[in-house]
Amino acid sequence: MLWKCTACGYLHEGDEPYEVCPKCGAPKEQAVKLSDEDAKKIFDSDRTNDIHMAIIGLAMKIKDLAKEGIALNLDPTCVSDFKKAHDDAWVIKERSKAELAKHASKGKW
Ligand SMILES: [Zn+2]
Repeated sequence: MLWKCTACGYLHEGDEPYEVCPKCGAPKEQAVKLSDEDAKKIFDSDRTNDIHMAIIGLAMKIKDLAKEGIALNLDPTCVSDFKKAHDDAWVIKERSKAELAKHASKGKW
């Protein structure tokens, strides 16, 4: 079951609501139980946002590896591949960041 603080939007998972909201201190009377459908949407968007965050982290690792490979400068084809990997990783990272920003502005999480 998912409860939402109507004062601040804090989400609580459990059979019962909290005594006072851990974020804003509002009493449990201000917590509302979300419908199963709304709870599922929130869990799904939570997981989706985590996946975007993980992809951003991996893309940043690719960028760092590519930079290291470029600096090593073993031969021109390697450097060329690393430059492409660096640029592709940037696109992957920015695509996920843009999607996360869209979710945040829609209040999806
Ligand atoms: Zn609250």
